[in-house]
Amino acid sequence: MFENVHEIILKVTRDCNLRCAYCYVRNKDRYRGERMSFALFKRLIDRYVLDQQKNSPDRQKQTLSLIFHGGEPTLLDTHELIRFMNYARRKIPYIQFGMQTNLTNISAELAIILQKYGISPGISADGWHSRFNQLRTRRQSKTIFRNVRLLKQYGVNCAPLIIINKLNIRSILTNIQRMLKIFGLQDIKANYVENIYTSDPAYPEVSADELITQLFLPVINQLKKKQVIVETNIAGMLDRFFQTSLFGVNNDPDKDNVSGNCYMKFCAGGNNIVEVDADGAVCSCGRWDAVHEVCQLGFINTADPWGLRSYGKAACLQIQKARQLRKKHCDICPAQNICSYGCLAFAYAKYKDFRIREELVCAYHLKAKKYLQENSSLILKAYAGARQWPVRKIHKKIFTVELPAGFPPLNEAQISQMPGWSVVNVDGQNLLQVILC
Ligand code: SF4
Ligand code: SF4
Repeated sequence: MFENVHEIILKVTRDCNLRCAYCYVRNKDRYRGERMSFALFKRLIDRYVLDQQKNSPDRQKQTLSLIFHGGEPTLLDTHELIRFMNYARRKIPYIQFGMQTNLTNISAELAIILQKYGISPGISADGWHSRFNQLRTRRQSKTIFRNVRLLKQYGVNCAPLIIINKLNIRSILTNIQRMLKIFGLQDIKANYVENIYTSDPAYPEVSADELITQLFLPVINQLKKKQVIVETNIAGMLDRFFQTSLFGVNNDPDKDNVSGNCYMKFCAGGNNIVEVDADGAVCSCGRWDAVHEVCQLGFINTADPWGLRSYGKAACLQIQKARQLRKKHCDICPAQNICSYGCLAFAYAKYKDFRIREELVCAYHLKAKKYLQENSSLILKAYAGARQWPVRKIHKKIFTVELPAGFPPLNEAQISQMPGWSVVNVDGQNLLQVILC
């Protein structure tokens, strides 16, 4: 069951002190007081170690990321949290801990524990001001920022994840910039919210058009002006776009060039990452809610010779997605090199079946791709600056870009398809030359 796993999303409780409108744990009241027991945690770790040993001796050197998640993981008693981590560290030499928290329940005692165990928590927030956080709680902003300062006092940094919704979309760039300042970061991840409770798209989801005009274009314009990329998903999209345009490397899961858990045709859910719930249920990835039986790989104690049972269940999900990719003709879509292909878990939670949300996923990526393609030379210049690739001005409208060592060779066939791009040889070195049209 855990043979191929390198990340466990550990829902130590699905209970939470907040009731966010878009949370993917449904009906939290039914989980009031739920906490994972040490006995169950011990069984999980022992099972993980056994499955890894069965797989290959090398796998024992693979780092396991154990992410305390929920619900709200800080509801777990701090002594219990220490007990969990000490046991895991004793059994798994290569382990790192993480935590995703709403940061409303932080004490000095917990800050010391986070510092000691090297945890830089991820926090979910919808913006720097309470008015942006009304889908979470009215009081949250002040509490969060007080707790950010508290953690900083103990040398603990944390990274916010902004959830883009109807209430914060119109000032999302300002929001990102204020958050960067507060948290002392260079960039922030801003995920769009998918409303999983109703097929009514009006609340609190944003549309593809809003994402383009309010997020994508402002972030790209800022890149052009200041040579910085402040949002992580768009940074990833630009990386994929330029990787394909320069090196011919595409977003193909068969090729070993994709990183991360999502953003590929067949995501890591159920294979490299799994979710383990407080009652011992093992599901594909933390975005699934245990109410969806389709995502359940089994329980910690379930017999699973060679992992075949859980691999089979995870493969079933991916086969359903493959059907949708085929139906949408993703293999010939112009946006396929930047596309995220949408999340299986969210689409299923919303519609009770597998689908790629054309009006959101396709509309957003197709528009973004068209813009990147039409403005590729100017964006490349700014992107090269942001990535600190040496750019040399040859003429008012001509520049060259030198790719630092470690990149694949420039793909001339691919480059010749981009307007104004060519490969020139200077002092025996291939450089990319761009004529701004
Ligand atoms: S795409 Fe969705 S289901 Fe797959 S790993 Fe990412 S969050 Fe999980
Ligand atoms: S934009 Fe839509 S059709 Fe194109 S690759 Fe993405 S999911 Fe497939």
